[in-house]
Amino acid sequence: MASLTLRSLRPALRPLVFRPLPALQTRLLSSKHPKGFESPAPEDLAELRERVQEFTRREIPEEVAAHTDKTNAFPPDMWGKLGDAGLLGITADQDVGGMGMGYQAHCVVMEEISRASGSIGLSYAAHAQLCVNQLQLNGTPEQKARYLPGLIAGTSVGALAMSESGSGSDVVSMRMTAKEVDGGYVLNGSKMWITNGPDADVIVVYAKTEPEKGSRGITAFIVETKTAGFSCARKLDKMGMRGSNTGELNFDSVFVPRENVLGKVNGGVGVLMEGLDLERLVLSAGPLGLMQAALDVALPFTHQRKQFGQPIAHNQFVQGKLADMYTKLQAARSYTYATARAVDEEGSVRTQDCAGAILYSAERGTECALDCVQLLGGMGYVEEMPASRILRDVKLYEIGAGTSEIRRMVIGRAFNKEYAHFAKGT
Ligand SMILES: Cc1cc2nc3c(=O)[nH]c(=O)nc-3n(C[C@H](O)[C@H](O)[C@H](O)COP(=O)(O)OP(=O)(O)OC[C@H]3O[C@@H](n4cnc5c(N)ncnc54)[C@H](O)[C@@H]3O)c2cc1C
Repeated sequence: MASLTLRSLRPALRPLVFRPLPALQTRLLSSKHPKGFESPAPEDLAELRERVQEFTRREIPEEVAAHTDKTNAFPPDMWGKLGDAGLLGITADQDVGGMGMGYQAHCVVMEEISRASGSIGLSYAAHAQLCVNQLQLNGTPEQKARYLPGLIAGTSVGALAMSESGSGSDVVSMRMTAKEVDGGYVLNGSKMWITNGPDADVIVVYAKTEPEKGSRGITAFIVETKTAGFSCARKLDKMGMRGSNTGELNFDSVFVPRENVLGKVNGGVGVLMEGLDLERLVLSAGPLGLMQAALDVALPFTHQRKQFGQPIAHNQFVQGKLADMYTKLQAARSYTYATARAVDEEGSVRTQDCAGAILYSAERGTECALDCVQLLGGMGYVEEMPASRILRDVKLYEIGAGTSEIRRMVIGRAFNKEYAHFAKGT
């Protein structure tokens, strides 16, 4: 079905998106965006959304989403399908197989996949944003040429590993070490809660090259999981996001060649923090998709289900819940896409807005999912309907990529930075 793929869509969009940018803007954009990037027009994004919806209707219908949840296993052929559709390299250069599009586009894809299945959406983000986009932003031309084509085609699976069992919120306290040896580094330690970890071929791994330097002694590495000494200790059994395979990973003297250092030696914290901003932005579209999924379930149900001789949606209490769900979704959507537009159009990545967008959408997402369960009554509490799955899935977004508490701290610290001159009395 070549006519439905994004690969075929992009050339068609080209004439629509060509709008010359002022020189300064182009310079700013160049560090965050693929070569030749031009910010998409609203009609391009609407067309992209339609194409992704065609994909999810075909490849991730409700039966696939429910089966993925029940079996707690990622559908094995899904990576190839996502790759064939051109969805795995939205923000990557076209010369390595990417779509050369930006963060608004990536949020659209993330939202629509998550609307179909929260867990496939989460695995998608770990692969296409945390791994592919991190390589796109920080990789050398050789690293991009070696790893991106396979990741974008879906023939290899990507992940990113920073968290450890003792270092979650305080991630820079990580204990994994990377000792310099002839020709490269040897990694020792373990990583916890790694999305796609059990399936990954390529993982962006953070480790301490100079532990005594604290956060200034962290380096990012590209690790091939076929390397001797790497193993997945176990796949985690989670309350939600089931089928987004999450693992605990062991690194027992894993040799990584020098050419697989991602970014600068001891510059890992910069790679990590910038990556986290954009990760939070794109992940904020996950709860948007799940809120839409909650409405997709609750709206028809409340109009079909009759009690006291009329559809339950004719009661004002029920209308109030539906109105709240809709309003929260629209407000969260506006925040996410406004933040993504600022990145695409101005090259401006505002830490407080990336954290703010996911803080807001995740918390509203849990509220909407709870309302959806309530509106369905007894059917909301049984697994025959997707309401409970949506609730179990969306809760993750208040925890992963920094918890809600940490996001509030990040926003507060950004204000402290802006107002630092008052503290200094200048
Ligand atoms: C399904 C899933 C997928 C994940 N995928 C990945 C992945 O792909 N790669 C990866 O590297 N990591 C991943 N993670 C890890 C995730 O980022 C961490 O779980 C998260 O950052 C929280 O860390 P923690 O679990 O250690 O909680 P903790 O840091 O132990 O926090 C526990 C509680 O204490 C609160 N808390 C901690 N410090 C403070 C403070 N200073 N002030 C106020 N409250 C505080 C937290 O908000 C939280 O409520 C994933 C996690 C899950 C559950």
